[in-house]
Amino acid sequence: MSELCKYCGREYRDARSLLINSCSANPNGRNHELFEGDKNGPFLCVHCGRAYRDLRSLVINSCSSNPNGRNHEPFEGNPNGPFVCKFCGREYRDLRSLVINSCSRNPERGGHHSPTR
Ligand SMILES: [Zn+2]
Ligand SMILES: [Zn+2]
Ligand SMILES: [Zn+2]
Repeated sequence: MSELCKYCGREYRDARSLLINSCSANPNGRNHELFEGDKNGPFLCVHCGRAYRDLRSLVINSCSSNPNGRNHEPFEGNPNGPFVCKFCGREYRDLRSLVINSCSRNPERGGHHSPTR
């Protein structure tokens, strides 16, 4: 099974070749990093819950819900759910419903639920 970079969506034949090459989309300025979610997709954005058929389309599009003002970032848990908030433990059947609702346990003021892996 090929491997995908979670920042740029680029595909490599194996993890080793992915990890030794540099990635221009990595915010930490380093090499590609392994996407550890389900590589068959769908690929969901961890900030807005939007679904894409391939990881590359997800990461190259900007996300209005990303607090850092950047592109969508992939959710690495099971894309079929259930989705559980890492702050309060509340469970949702779809990721979009989870991320659009505000969470009283989120340490950021006015923050929303955020999924665990
Ligand atoms: Zn990359
Ligand atoms: Zn998004
Ligand atoms: Zn929550």
